[in-house]
Amino acid sequence: MKRAAAVMALVCAVLVGARASAYVRTRSSHGTPGIPSYWPGGCVFIQPDSAGTPDLPSDQTFAIIQKCLQNWMSADGSCSYLQLMYDAPAPLEAHYDGTNVIKFRNDKWCHPEDAEDKDVCYDAQAAAITSVFMINDGSSKDGLILDADVELNDINFTFVDVTPGVSPTPKPNTSIADLENTLTHELGHLQGLSHTCRDAASFPNDVDENGQPPPACDALDMLPTAEQLKITEATMYNFAAPGETKKRSPSPDDAAGICNAYPSDPAARSALHRPDSMQCVHTDLNRYTRPSGCDFGAGPVESGAPILLLAFAWLVLRANRRRA
Ligand SMILES: [Zn+2]
Repeated sequence: MKRAAAVMALVCAVLVGARASAYVRTRSSHGTPGIPSYWPGGCVFIQPDSAGTPDLPSDQTFAIIQKCLQNWMSADGSCSYLQLMYDAPAPLEAHYDGTNVIKFRNDKWCHPEDAEDKDVCYDAQAAAITSVFMINDGSSKDGLILDADVELNDINFTFVDVTPGVSPTPKPNTSIADLENTLTHELGHLQGLSHTCRDAASFPNDVDENGQPPPACDALDMLPTAEQLKITEATMYNFAAPGETKKRSPSPDDAAGICNAYPSDPAARSALHRPDSMQCVHTDLNRYTRPSGCDFGAGPVESGAPILLLAFAWLVLRANRRRA
């Protein structure tokens, strides 16, 4: 599986006359705009690599990870049906396999070489990367997410549990990143949200819920203050300051994005035609990677079916707001 390049060209958004609306759902690249991405089931299972991080005791690390799942469900539970489920830590690698992994990288800030790919190394300013694997073939399954993995940059950052009034000491040559702040943001990507403003790492086909390109991050001062704050105070805002904690709590706008994707309202849910959305089971890749055009209904799995996916390697929680 080839992984898409992490950096794409900056596209300048035209803001004049557009209402900034903040939340942005990640979309397929077919059509204009593409189909917004979504998980087919009613649950997403998330599992940490048991190696954890040398920055924190394992018990504390895994407790924070579970807290991050809860952060989203506390924010959107009144209007979203999607449940984030925690699987016990195990030795895991982050790749396309139907297991949604959280993995700290502390030997090199790269995705390791596998059978088809060489090492893919990431931007040192990125505290974490979430890769979302979704069907992107223009079929009736377009936008369906099959796998998502979060990798955390333990080379350039020290992950901490920030406590008010306490100044943690980072490892040499690293910046402080609050683990809960970072991971709550990444779990927004895992559920299918993109960033609230457009920068060099944004996908060209990103649009907000009004069908407009998100405003450029370096042009937010053109917007009314309330609109700026809606974008910059969101958990899915592109940037974070060292030791920041406000992304621990998804904003109403972040929750609106999840509820747009996974509405608990019966009529809205029915309108999305997702027969598997009532199920809480681990993802069966074969079920969704049969030849395009098949329905979602149960049936024999066809071996050798083409896997049509778009691999995203993106992130962008940066320790310092440094722009080129
Ligand atoms: Zn991000």
